Amino acid sequence: MDLEAFARELIACRRCPRLVAYREEVGRTKRRVYRDWDYWAKPVPGFGDPGARLVLFGLAPGAHGSNRTGRPFTGDASGAFLYPLLYEAGLASKPESRPGDDLRLFGVYLTAAVRCAPPENRPTREELRACSGWTEAELGLLPEARVYLALGRVALEALLDHFGMKKSAHPFFHGAHYLLPDGRHLLASYHVSRQNTQTGRLTREMFLEILLKAKGLAGL
Ligand code: SF4
Repeated sequence: MDLEAFARELIACRRCPRLVAYREEVGRTKRRVYRDWDYWAKPVPGFGDPGARLVLFGLAPGAHGSNRTGRPFTGDASGAFLYPLLYEAGLASKPESRPGDDLRLFGVYLTAAVRCAPPENRPTREELRACSGWTEAELGLLPEARVYLALGRVALEALLDHFGMKKSAHPFFHGAHYLLPDGRHLLASYHVSRQNTQTGRLTREMFLEILLKAKGLAGL
């Protein structure tokens, strides 16, 4: 299977009844400012370079962000923070992302622990477990990956589960850096959500620093 076949299978997934209902309801009711949009309202496949050496791993699609546009971190405040910094770090062909544009990521792939928008950005444990099968498949299709950058605690814990590593021995904090059993790297940052970036918990400088570190470790 390649990433295109993966995406075709993924978008048909209806395994989590609560999330299926929510993503579709948001797609029907919409936010007023987006009333002319045809919301994606399906699972959101990852986006980026199939030969990625660096994988950014988020939490879940935003209800009116990637649940609307169908591309990770696209269409909401998270993406408005992330993409300009990817560009500044030399990892993207331009500083913004719009569905259907010609944006290219260089050596980077973006995905998340849960692929359907959850109410209040909070997937349940069962939903995380259900989507971990897709994580297994998707990360397995990125054989060049050397560095995984988890955005937030939930994303870090999902990656620790994926790699069979103990959560108690690998706590979340911004700037955490762990070695995988095979010597590859697992980093953690605060999530790029509006909640963190507008309160100053995560600044542009902080995120650029960790992005450049990840880029260096990945040999990009
Ligand atoms: Fe399927 Fe993952 Fe969406 Fe659940 S969150 S319905 S497992 S794609």
